[in-house]
Amino acid sequence: MTGSVASPLALTATDRCDRCGAAASARAVMASGGELLFCGHHAREYSTKLEQLAAQIHLSEKENVAVATSVNSGF
Ligand SMILES: [Zn+2]
Repeated sequence: MTGSVASPLALTATDRCDRCGAAASARAVMASGGELLFCGHHAREYSTKLEQLAAQIHLSEKENVAVATSVNSGF
């Protein structure tokens, strides 16, 4: 564990949700190569749509758990 090399997909404090401007906790990489950033709230709101668009969604570990739980329990 070096702990000092950030993943190119890692979200930072300067990344903001494209919808509301809150701190981003999810990065959606579209099949076309474009990227969208979402806060936890909007990541959940758009998760189904993003899956339909074949987007890859990269989440912080905390949010990943939250989204998985949300999807499994009811969409
Ligand atoms: Zn948002």
